[in-house]
Amino acid sequence: MSILIDNIGLLVTHEHGRSERQNAVLVIENNRVAWIGDAGKAPDADERIDAEGRCVIPGFVDSHSHLVFAGDRSAEFEHRMTGQPYAAGGIRTTVAATRAASNAVLTANTGRLVAEMRAQGTTTVEIKSGYGLTTADEARALAIAKTFTSETTYLGAHVVPVEFADNPADYVALVTGDMLDACAPHAKWIDVFCDNGAFDVDQARVILKAGMPRGLGARMHGAQLAPSGAVQLAVELGAASVDHCTYLTDADVDALAHSDTVATLLPGVEFSTRQPYPDARRLLDAGATVALACDCNPGSSYTTSMPFCIAVAVRDMNFSPAEALWSATAGGAAALGRTDIGGLAVGQRADLVILDAPSYVHLAYRPGVPLVHRVISAAH
Ligand SMILES: [Zn+2]
Repeated sequence: MSILIDNIGLLVTHEHGRSERQNAVLVIENNRVAWIGDAGKAPDADERIDAEGRCVIPGFVDSHSHLVFAGDRSAEFEHRMTGQPYAAGGIRTTVAATRAASNAVLTANTGRLVAEMRAQGTTTVEIKSGYGLTTADEARALAIAKTFTSETTYLGAHVVPVEFADNPADYVALVTGDMLDACAPHAKWIDVFCDNGAFDVDQARVILKAGMPRGLGARMHGAQLAPSGAVQLAVELGAASVDHCTYLTDADVDALAHSDTVATLLPGVEFSTRQPYPDARRLLDAGATVALACDCNPGSSYTTSMPFCIAVAVRDMNFSPAEALWSATAGGAAALGRTDIGGLAVGQRADLVILDAPSYVHLAYRPGVPLVHRVISAAH
């Protein structure tokens, strides 16, 4: 099965960095990009799509989400918007609701959110556990996540659950013991929330080092609430990504710039918690690889929209529109250790979005406007 897309006003491939072509034709064969060139020279194909001058971009790669949960925390958001600060402990509210929910409810909720993402141009999503915090509930969350994506992440170390409040060391032992045994078969990654109110650097090191020999790649929530040693630990362990990076020291920026660890920024979190936005220029100008993701979760960032995150990243985090698009596609792919997605070079997966706009600049220029005309993805 081959598809030819012609009359592409602007095509973003990310080939050789940030390559863009005007008036291009793209041919898909067997769900891969098979040919890119100028009108009039394209090979024949089974099906033709006329892009009518629209912009075509790689599908978004949302490399950080927490979609397997139950409940609603809109009241907490409302309180925060009237002056109460964000605290990591709010996660426990969702843990109680998630434990009480049936498999059917959790699966339906996850599916609804994945569909929202898809409608807004996301073609790859990473999904974490982390609202079960028992061996059975964490394994259940990952089994559900695995039905929607291959990018599943074991986050038993999200917070210490209330029943272990007096014995956090016992909870770390569970996360690195029985819970890891039950979850590793369902996960590609292991993650830890290393911050005030969650796990400290020493605990995070123990947790990630337990998962890595089991074949799980390391990733981390770090520097969301305060500067800490989290970023340095992520680099030390060769983590694929350290996510949030709201409070970075100069040494953190330098360590990231001289490593393969991606710095993943999550604009929806600062938006929804009224924390200060990190300045992406510090990372980008230092040469760090930067990704953008939604961090969709019911507490601190309940959005599934990568276009929204791009708009905020450009407006408030000092990305250029081209940098924000790169970080939301190729950057996300790098954060997941993937080279087959995030771009539209010949040979890459033909996961793409036809925008109802002549340029991707409109993603930031027209915030809140649905600009996704059509999504094409091998994954669906
Ligand atoms: Zn998160």
